[in-house]
Amino acid sequence: MPSTFSRDVGPDAAPDLFENESAALRKARAMHASADANAAHYRHSLGELIDHFERLMRETRRLIGRSDRAEREMQALAHQLAHRASHDALTGVLNRSAVIERASKTLRSTNAAMIVLDIDEFKRINDDFGHPTGDAVILGVVDCLRRIVGERGFIGRVGGEEFTVMLPGHDPASAALLAERMREAIAESLVVPPVDRSITASFGVSNNVAGTGFDAAYGLADAALYRAKRGGRNRVEFADR
Ligand code: GH3
Ligand code: MG
Ligand code: MG
Repeated sequence: MPSTFSRDVGPDAAPDLFENESAALRKARAMHASADANAAHYRHSLGELIDHFERLMRETRRLIGRSDRAEREMQALAHQLAHRASHDALTGVLNRSAVIERASKTLRSTNAAMIVLDIDEFKRINDDFGHPTGDAVILGVVDCLRRIVGERGFIGRVGGEEFTVMLPGHDPASAALLAERMREAIAESLVVPPVDRSITASFGVSNNVAGTGFDAAYGLADAALYRAKRGGRNRVEFADR
């Protein structure tokens, strides 16, 4: 893209934005060099220079404003892109790769509880009420999780209707309490019209010492989740270590 101050002179060259200013400057130089210019000539030349100088200032302000706006837009776009790369589009929680990355990093240095949960009989909700209602249920579940997790940890969507909640630094008793509160919040307060049955989720919890790998922590929580499903759903099970 040619710059505003392009000096190209070929047939396709951009027009010189400061053509008039250059002409005024040439005239002023000639006047300055002329031995027989009088006060009226100087005054006229100075008037022209003032006009053009003012136009230059206006133009420069406009260009600075435009470039500031462009920079702000670029920053906002870069921020949006980074957010989209690490967050789930439907719910806004961390996406699968971001939660794996963040959980792995957490586990390297801290004891942490990992909770894996999966909505119960979700396929039937989709089948009976349609996909958009299924999406609304997913959003409602995430809302319940957010209210309870708050600043204590972070939430990720690891699959369609399966989520991970990481609680760094949590002891088994407080992780169990929080998982139970999440289960209860979904089962007892989540209402998504026109769904006319209670919405529930099953939970598996692993408590991991610092240095545990993501796969090991996840595998233990997932095995506990499987037991919760087999045991009748809408319950919290714990990995035995
Ligand atoms: P279970 O109690 O054993 O977990 O049974 P389920 O029916 O919940 O489990 P299943 O894995 O059979 O069904 C998950 C369904 O989730 C299947 C898939 O169509 C649906 N699903 C996955 N992602 C989305 C999504 O983003 N929106 C909606 N509405 N449905 C989704
Ligand atoms: Mg399910
Ligand atoms: Mg599932």
